[in-house]
Amino acid sequence: MIPVAEALARVLALGTPLPAERVPLRAAAGRVLAAPVIASRDQPPFDASAMDGYAIRDADHRSGVQLTVIGEAGAGHAFSGAVGAGEAVRIFTGAPVPDGADRVVIQEDVTRDGDRITLGERLETQSNIRDLGNDFKVGDRLPAPRRLRPADLGLIAAMNVPEVTVTRRPAVAILSTGDELVMPGGSPRPDQIIASNAIALAAMAEGAGAEVRVLPIARDTPDSLRFAFGLAADADVLVTIGGASVGDHDLVGRMATELGFEQAFWKIAMRPGKPLMAGRLGRSIMLGLPGNPVSAFVCAQLFLLPLLDQLQGIERRSSTEMARVLDPLPANGPRAHYMRASLGFADGQPTIAPMGSQDSSLMTVLGSADALLVRPVGDRARAAGEMVEFIRI
Ligand code: AMP
Ligand code: MG
Repeated sequence: MIPVAEALARVLALGTPLPAERVPLRAAAGRVLAAPVIASRDQPPFDASAMDGYAIRDADHRSGVQLTVIGEAGAGHAFSGAVGAGEAVRIFTGAPVPDGADRVVIQEDVTRDGDRITLGERLETQSNIRDLGNDFKVGDRLPAPRRLRPADLGLIAAMNVPEVTVTRRPAVAILSTGDELVMPGGSPRPDQIIASNAIALAAMAEGAGAEVRVLPIARDTPDSLRFAFGLAADADVLVTIGGASVGDHDLVGRMATELGFEQAFWKIAMRPGKPLMAGRLGRSIMLGLPGNPVSAFVCAQLFLLPLLDQLQGIERRSSTEMARVLDPLPANGPRAHYMRASLGFADGQPTIAPMGSQDSSLMTVLGSADALLVRPVGDRARAAGEMVEFIRI
């Protein structure tokens, strides 16, 4: 058995970042930026008013002073003249501050009578001006690599950059294998079940930026598997589900080897999961996951998601967080245990409670869990109230 970290390192050693492509900004959400974005303008592009009020000179900024309003500046409507001594320009938020003016007095601090204003008793000290370029300047960069979030897209748009360079989406093919499987919506015989894993893993991979194809189910025969592998020949990543053990009908490894797969098959020191195949098959990286739904899900969480990040050119940040465990936990054995658990909040602290059953075939339990409580190899017994690691799912 090899530790999870070592298995992950071996999986990641298979992948190098995919080539980049240009996409319009509206298609860039969640993609990984492959080249820095460079601002093509200053923001704000002029000294801008931060408030509704009056633009005046500093020398006139005294209580009781009376000034003449000589014009108006609105957002998108600059005032073309200049503000002189004894003068003010009515100004609104986002408007360029006219030449000559040093500050904006908020309208609440002013009384107006026709084209005359009088400054009030209490005046603010701040200028209420957003200086030219105080947000960003021409040439400022948003660095790559970076997975683009909504706020990044807003910033790039403000930089007046309509297209970005992102890593190509990894093409992922997902192959369920097993004579007992039928697609969701099909008509299973009494001895069959639904191929549910592919749907969960497809959603998981898409959430990580992949473009996913769910292949037709392969039977537990050499011909069926050979044909299915052929369908996936152009994928960046082929994820197989099931048939990865050493049973009589576990043909995935054997068939892949026949097709040139340099088989790496590891028993990983983890629960659930254990057997995992990984290697190169033609131009694809192949990940062979166990068929058991919870095992497949946990293995995909631990190995497929980091691989997809790596192919897109970023390193997955450590995904573990900490919470206070609500129940005592016995000492853990020689395999890392990823326990299905539910998160909560009590006394100002995040809490976590392992689900009652940890049977790795139970999809209802996985479905009602929102975290995997991580028990490291050989972890000592934990008392209720201790801090433990978890992965959000
Ligand atoms: P295997 O790894 O092929 O021995 O499968 C282990 C268990 O997972 C068996 O009970 C299979 O029926 C089940 N299984 C295999 N593939 C899937 C799948 N795609 N969706 C749901 N269950 C599966
Ligand atoms: Mg099987």
